[in-house]
Amino acid sequence: MYNTLSMLEKIDEVRSLHIFDGYLNYDPNTSPHIHCYCKSCGMISDIMMEGRADVVVPRKEIEGFLIDHIGVVFKGTCTLCR
Ligand SMILES: [Zn+2]
Ligand SMILES: [Zn+2]
Repeated sequence: MYNTLSMLEKIDEVRSLHIFDGYLNYDPNTSPHIHCYCKSCGMISDIMMEGRADVVVPRKEIEGFLIDHIGVVFKGTCTLCR
């Protein structure tokens, strides 16, 4: 059973993910970096990495899947929202 609040949270979560996904599709920064995403205001900031942002791709499971983005996202609350 979902109450109204958790429903709203779910909708908000979906919306946030959509905004974030859209951002990733036109992220102008092509250097290796990670993202900090504020769940409260939707702010996304780029954090530059020294070297590569390493993500282990499970080859077997991902076979046939065309990857156009590999990234690390830190979700949380930004300084202003805190
Ligand atoms: Zn924020
Ligand atoms: Zn970025």
